[in-house]
Amino acid sequence: MCTPHPANRFLGLIRHNRRVLPRYRIRQVINYINLSTPLGLLVGVLGRAKISHEKDGLFVAEQCRLMLPDAGAFTIGNVVITGQTIARLQGFFPEILDHEAAHSSQWAWLGPLFLPLYVIWMGWSMLRTGNRATRNYLERWAGLKRGGYE
Ligand SMILES: [Zn+2]
Repeated sequence: MCTPHPANRFLGLIRHNRRVLPRYRIRQVINYINLSTPLGLLVGVLGRAKISHEKDGLFVAEQCRLMLPDAGAFTIGNVVITGQTIARLQGFFPEILDHEAAHSSQWAWLGPLFLPLYVIWMGWSMLRTGNRATRNYLERWAGLKRGGYE
């Protein structure tokens, strides 16, 4: 089997184009421009993940070795990254992709502010409830139940 050079694989993923509804196309373009999607793809390639296209211009990067195998998913730009497979996650949380898609939209709204704001809200939530999601505004916006949170 021939494995493409990581840099070519990365560029090939970026070049790939697919029919996407206009509202998701806007998110897709913004997340390329703010560099969050390239960053997410880079994390996926570095973690030797299996990267594939999902609905609405999203990518999934599965079995990423930079993630704990039993952890959930984490989204950077349009890339949903997980140490396991999305199918397995969906077995527990059927709406997990909708939850992660909301995080992708948050990246489009917030750009590079996403990460610091996420950390601040997570700290606030930990202080208030001892749980990283319950009072985390970005998790509430994405839907706590859809994300597998109480
Ligand atoms: Zn979430």
